[in-house]
Amino acid sequence: MTKYYNFKTEINKRELQEAATFLKEGKLVIFPTETVYGIGANAFNPKAVDDIFIAKGRANDNPLIVHIADFDDLKEITEEPNEMEQALIDAFMPGPFTLILKKKNCIPDNVSAGLDTVGIRMPEDKIAHELIKAAKLPIAAPSANLSSRPSGTKVSDIVDEFDGKVSAIIDGGETKIGIESTVVKVIDGIPTILRPGKITPEDIKEVVGTVKIDEHIFKKATGKVESPGMKYKHYAPNAACLLVYSDNEEVQIDLVNQNMKDNTIVIGFKEHQSKIQCDQFYVHGSIHNYDEISHNIFTLLREVDRMHPDFIIIEGVKKEGLGIAIMNRLIRSTSYHYIEK
Ligand code: AMP
Ligand code: MG
Repeated sequence: MTKYYNFKTEINKRELQEAATFLKEGKLVIFPTETVYGIGANAFNPKAVDDIFIAKGRANDNPLIVHIADFDDLKEITEEPNEMEQALIDAFMPGPFTLILKKKNCIPDNVSAGLDTVGIRMPEDKIAHELIKAAKLPIAAPSANLSSRPSGTKVSDIVDEFDGKVSAIIDGGETKIGIESTVVKVIDGIPTILRPGKITPEDIKEVVGTVKIDEHIFKKATGKVESPGMKYKHYAPNAACLLVYSDNEEVQIDLVNQNMKDNTIVIGFKEHQSKIQCDQFYVHGSIHNYDEISHNIFTLLREVDRMHPDFIIIEGVKKEGLGIAIMNRLIRSTSYHYIEK
């Protein structure tokens, strides 16, 4: 039986303790963060960690991110960061940022999928922070969604996927950012973005002077990759999808209109709604507000999917700032069906 806690307006201390106790006992708890919902387990308990992989149907070579509440936890589970890593920690933790560091042996191999590194994140969301603090444990937590599905950004989207499989689900309302953390590994002295997010390449460059974006961010990964998650189908609705983008707005609108079929849903900019010939138009946000699009995109993909369209066309954004992360997710949602003109 899954317990449901409603912390939308305030945290209930007794229920928070109960959720923390579940984690200590090796059980699974779903909780909100500022990025997306996470499905968490005690990171020191390999059996509990295995249960995450089973609940999600996740490939066991795809490592989990470990969530911590404070910097003492960091010392316990990773080798000492070098100067550049420390600068990134100081600048971006707590926040929507994951740093890959050398792990200590106390982190079981299934958390890191056999790698000698582990991804560390310190959420700034109050519920996530208080839960991890109350559990007094590092919490391994991937996004709360069945593998390959869009990440969960509100509880009603994921109840069907996890009811009965986890001990508790904490409802904190819609997550603020809506897409997952920026994942960074310092490779040969250069901070390398393995997954883009709210913390942008410009943000990182401002702190340490250099930044690199892994070549697989917009490309299908084959063979050996720095981050195993890059290989897997992710964020995908059930219907066939197409992503379109042009620097020229009129060309982009034409691309949508030209590719329209029967029973198509368009997900696009509110400024374009009146120019696109389509009965079923869903707004992902304003052309001037990428935060709005990032917040809406995963829940919208799920909502549209529930309408059972034959085809979904999505308007893309400029690959700049937060737009890099949005396009990374959309390119993968559409299984690389992408036209850019
Ligand atoms: P999720 O938890 O579902 O948001 O996915 C976590 C992402 O972080 C995946 O893309 C993983 O491949 C990546 N990741 C986690 N740990 C590591 C690591 N040690 N090295 C490289 N990538 C990692
Ligand atoms: Mg995920």
